[in-house]
Amino acid sequence: MLTFPPILALLTSCAPPPEPPAPPAEPSTTLGMPLPAAWPSRAATLQRLETPPPTRALRIAIDPGHGVGSNSGNSSCLCIDEQDHNLRVAQHLAQSLEAQGQHPTQLTRSDNRGPAYSTRITTAQQGAADLLISLHSDARGEQHHWLPSPDATCSWNDGNPGFSVLWSDEAEPALAEARLTLAAALAARLAEAGFLAYDGHEYQGIYEGHPDHPGVFLDRHEPRKRVRMLRRPTMPSVIIETHNAWDRLEEPRWQEEATLDAFDAAVLTALADWAR
Ligand SMILES: [Zn+2]
Repeated sequence: MLTFPPILALLTSCAPPPEPPAPPAEPSTTLGMPLPAAWPSRAATLQRLETPPPTRALRIAIDPGHGVGSNSGNSSCLCIDEQDHNLRVAQHLAQSLEAQGQHPTQLTRSDNRGPAYSTRITTAQQGAADLLISLHSDARGEQHHWLPSPDATCSWNDGNPGFSVLWSDEAEPALAEARLTLAAALAARLAEAGFLAYDGHEYQGIYEGHPDHPGVFLDRHEPRKRVRMLRRPTMPSVIIETHNAWDRLEEPRWQEEATLDAFDAAVLTALADWAR
């Protein structure tokens, strides 16, 4: 008879207890890196951007992505829910657009209780919006963990920074072209305002970068997984992924008012370009 089981039992009983898991390598309790100088104020950015002359008024629907049911989006490297980031950026942008006095603006949600995306699209259409901008952030690359504060373990990846502007060509040609020109105008002005255009490294197979417009990406999911906010609205619509929420340089910058100001200035100027 084989004697392996008793031997194995003996070996097991004599074996030292398993090593406890190694603690994370030098958990950081600070951001641990110097931040570049703040982006300039909106006024300064507007001055620097070559602002085109005023154009016709546009009715603008702004969709703060996620914020319905359990769909809170990603959790950033500072453990901030994406739904909260999107709402903060959207409210700030809406205020800037309203303050500028030219473009009536509507938000498709104002808290984290929905409505569903289909309702948001219907609302924008009923409001006769001329365009729809949906705001998101990405969580890109391999997930690492760190401790930005003593009681929070958050995810990070510093390798995939930058904004992207997403669009869909799934429409009749005039609508598809309007989506692309809107995406291109936004990406160009965001880059001019100092935002980094994402290189698309983690998008392979799902979004295709435009050869002439850095930061602009076409939805290339398989048909049944394509993004509703890009393909369903009857007015031109795009998604702006503001940054990689796991990036420990970009995410703190998006907590600064100057970043929101620069973003708003870039969008305002892009809309003037697009409406010409
Ligand atoms: Zn999102």
